[in-house]
Amino acid sequence: MAKKTILITGGAGFIGSHVVRRFVNSYPDYIIINFDKLTYAGNLENLTDIEDKPNYKFVKGDIANEKDVEAVFSQYQIDGVIHLAAESHVDRSISDPMAFIRTNILGTTVLLNAARKSWDGSFDGKLFYHISTDEVYGSLGNEGFFTEETPYDPRSPYSASKASSDHLVRAYNHTYGLPTVISNCSNNYGPNQFPEKLIPLSIHNIKNSKPIPIYGKGENVRDWLYVEDHAAAIDLIFHKAKIGETYNIGGNNEWKNIDLIRLLCKIMDKKLNRAEGESEKLITFVKDRAGHDLRYAIDSNKIQRELGWKPSLTFDVGLEKTVDWYLSNEKWLNDVVSGEYMNYYQQQYGGR
Ligand code: NAD
Repeated sequence: MAKKTILITGGAGFIGSHVVRRFVNSYPDYIIINFDKLTYAGNLENLTDIEDKPNYKFVKGDIANEKDVEAVFSQYQIDGVIHLAAESHVDRSISDPMAFIRTNILGTTVLLNAARKSWDGSFDGKLFYHISTDEVYGSLGNEGFFTEETPYDPRSPYSASKASSDHLVRAYNHTYGLPTVISNCSNNYGPNQFPEKLIPLSIHNIKNSKPIPIYGKGENVRDWLYVEDHAAAIDLIFHKAKIGETYNIGGNNEWKNIDLIRLLCKIMDKKLNRAEGESEKLITFVKDRAGHDLRYAIDSNKIQRELGWKPSLTFDVGLEKTVDWYLSNEKWLNDVVSGEYMNYYQQQYGGR
């Protein structure tokens, strides 16, 4: 296997940590550089099992800071970039859009410039792979799916910032010939997800017998994919995708928020030896998120057909694995539920 140095941005975060682990373990001949600013969402504890491997390096840096990015590109001869670093939480984008503009739009452009400067014109290296979201496509009614041809219609500051970064990545491919690829994925779940997102937040609250806040009536529909299945898709796309292409990734696994939480409550009742129905009593409906998109659903036929990817876990199995992970990693959870997070939680859900 050819020696390659791969820069993975945002590798200390939820999805990034699974991607870093997969690449470090599967490709011992690659040097994997995890470039991360370590915001509230970045946690090197996610990677303690691989931190001593000789093909893994961590570099602390901000993608929106040209000096940080230029330094890593001049220190290493980078052959490919897998770009996951982002501000990723819709609710935070509503209360503080500027952080999203800075990291997701400016940061992506700084990275694109550095990749372009160091690109030697060969299509073998410097593939710039941007990990994006299905939220760029807007919101669906009760029917239909997002395909790779669905026009962009982002509706939150988060999705608008990700849509902008997708456009910039395509523009650098079209204008400068930079070899790029983009994938747009549905909601991920699994170990290491920061407990501000629906599933880990609910597990944490059920465990501690705290109210489970559900926006509106819980009617919003999301398509859920186990995070390691996303990491497997990223591996395939990085190695096999056609340059300039876009791939949608999804679990074909749509759930109304309220139904998902009811399923989670059932699993938690069993795990915590509670009477059936006890955890469900914690469900508390709260004021809906501003501009809350009704439904996202992904058509992932292209990646299945062209690259042979498909999700490996059913939702029941993946959700149980996730619950088991959170219940047996109490220290991880307590460490990340820090002062900063509690302030945010207080502001978002009040005393609940
Ligand atoms: P996350 O919030 O868990 O992690 C983001 C990581 O990026 C953190 O480690 C953080 O420290 C780092 N980071 C943030 N700003 C940075 C900066 N300026 N410079 C360097 N590092 C910075 O996010 P996630 O859920 O793992 O999402 C990763 C990527 O996947 C994002 O681009 C997101 O848009 C995309 N995505 C997420 C989902 C999902 O369900 N979570 C679905 C589809 C796509």
